[in-house]
Amino acid sequence: MERQRYVASVSFGKDSLAMLYKLITLGWPLDEVVYFNNGMEFQAIYDVRDQVLPDLKALGIPYTELSPQSPFLYDMLERPVKYRGKPGYHYGYGWCGGPCRWGTSEKLRAIRAYCGDATIYVGLAADEPQRFEKCGYPNRSLPLVTWGMEEADCLDYCYQLGIRWMEDGGAGPVPLYEILDRVSCWCCGNKNLKELKHIYLYLPQYWERLKGLQSHLSHPMKGYYQDGRPKGIFELEERFEWELWAAARAPHVKKHRKTDRSKDYER
Ligand code: SF4
Repeated sequence: MERQRYVASVSFGKDSLAMLYKLITLGWPLDEVVYFNNGMEFQAIYDVRDQVLPDLKALGIPYTELSPQSPFLYDMLERPVKYRGKPGYHYGYGWCGGPCRWGTSEKLRAIRAYCGDATIYVGLAADEPQRFEKCGYPNRSLPLVTWGMEEADCLDYCYQLGIRWMEDGGAGPVPLYEILDRVSCWCCGNKNLKELKHIYLYLPQYWERLKGLQSHLSHPMKGYYQDGRPKGIFELEERFEWELWAAARAPHVKKHRKTDRSKDYER
């Protein structure tokens, strides 16, 4: 009988990385590490990957990097896509996120196809049960849940190992996990307004790239306000500038506006 294979799916974010090092430390069976690289990660993710690969090599753990079938930006901006329920095509799937996570579907497809019958270790933390059923791998194992490791534990664990996710913010190094709730693709449509404001403030090089994408996409990145005004990158830039101005010049104005809009910072 063939021995069961075990593959760790690692994104080089805090959760899957904590899972990987803990699997190794506890001696769980591990035949391979697989990473799906869509080319749209923050540079800090690639730097951490390059920091970890020598450890895998030293331990003799094979590492495989998978790619999407077509480039992410082609799918986002150029791929001809048939309209639903009417003739004709539009070009590109648009922003990836929310109910339209076409990039995630491609990742799941690629990892499932590559791993076959192997058991896939998935780095979902114990405090994100809403994601357990959606995780999309039939033969998965969730070690962080077994160990009761929550997201904060994973970050602590990685920090203890000396792993940091540092970005060059122009004005100095920026620790990614201190400005973002979730380190996903830099163009992820799931980023909430607080995260987008932090990108605007601390990582201007990514903000410029977001503006570049928005200039090619008719749909505003964050949809529309209730009154129908668009909530795209350019409108958000105006809003953030206004908020900064208000914070610096007129704190009472800021307070008023913040009350008006605090809710959509969570989305
Ligand atoms: S992190 Fe966001 S942009 Fe990247 S694949 Fe997932 S949903 Fe899409």
